Amino acid sequence: MIIAVLKEITPHETRVALTPQITKKYIDGGFKVQIETQAGKLAGFCDNDYISAGATIKTTASQTISGADIIIKINSPLPEEIKLFQPLQTVIADFKQAIPPSLASKQITCFALERIPRISRAQNMDILSSQNNLAGYQAVIKAFGLLPKIAPLMMTAAGTIPPANVLILGVGVAGLQAIATAKRLGAVVFASDIRPEVQEQVSSLGGKFISTTPNNKKRDSQQENAILKLLPQIDIVITSALIPGQKAPLLINKKMLKLLPSHSVIIDMASSSGGNVEGSINNQISEFDNLTIFGGGNLITELPNSASHLFAQNIFNFIKFIYPNGTLKLDFNDEIISATCICKDGKLLLKDK
Ligand code: NAD
Repeated sequence: MIIAVLKEITPHETRVALTPQITKKYIDGGFKVQIETQAGKLAGFCDNDYISAGATIKTTASQTISGADIIIKINSPLPEEIKLFQPLQTVIADFKQAIPPSLASKQITCFALERIPRISRAQNMDILSSQNNLAGYQAVIKAFGLLPKIAPLMMTAAGTIPPANVLILGVGVAGLQAIATAKRLGAVVFASDIRPEVQEQVSSLGGKFISTTPNNKKRDSQQENAILKLLPQIDIVITSALIPGQKAPLLINKKMLKLLPSHSVIIDMASSSGGNVEGSINNQISEFDNLTIFGGGNLITELPNSASHLFAQNIFNFIKFIYPNGTLKLDFNDEIISATCICKDGKLLLKDK
């Protein structure tokens, strides 16, 4: 069984679907690995690292794909890659950006890992959790890099600097990691979510939860007022609120931005899904009334080494699951298979959400 790894050609992408460490696991498991030259360069892995782990380097995408059984990728394949696919190949990737209809022109089978159900037996294959966790960390690091202030309380002979105040809106996987990271740096952290059940998790990380009444659709007036009252003392706002299959909810409008101190930094982690912050631009730093706003929908690409490591491990676990004895075994009664298999032998089973 041959696994092929392509160099990502999607703009801004820095990650790679396989690391040298996981290459060794495939080789030990009886797989052969062929990887396109320089595929891991931006993530800090060179061709020799892969060769030492047992992989073969190929000079072009076409040579890499040729003869492979399984093609693993970070992003959904682009038309020039789909053109190269051969009948009976299996493609595994994150298809969040698009499910190209042209997949059906090839007699291939595709798995969309972003559709892995959020159930405990699938946790080790869950790319959304592994990547959002790291992005939540990076959001805090990025914000403090842009903030002209320190995070912790500092008492010096020259005077005392109070700790920075951080507000996290949306406490999913990314928001929880952002709380943990900001607390570790010594900041005071406030957090809000429409799911009241996250209160306990926020408190256990040392954050102060802005409480809510169960409603599950949008912020209630109690939360709204508490947030408005807090904004004048907040140094950093990190938003990571998403509603599956929908445009991200707008949580901070221009009126609210005007309440923040002028040195504040806002990181909108939902900027690639419509944005939680009015005026944020994906992948760009912009200014509004002296505030710094960063559209952080692609923050994961700033941590390509760690992100590739977890992504590659997620794919490895998925491959072990669908190839239990070295042969593809697809039981469509299993929710992991039925949720992720978007194309079977050239027939599109699921389209874009
Ligand atoms: P997500 O990234 O989809 O969304 C982020 C958060 O935004 C969610 O907590 C959501 O409630 C919140 N939100 C939405 N609208 C909001 C608003 N108007 N104001 C404030 N917050 C708002 O979330 P996620 O991290 O992917 O996790 C979502 C769910 O999946 C959780 O229940 C989590 O426990 C579960 N989960 C399960 C597993 C597993 O069992 N394998 C793994 C990860 C997550």
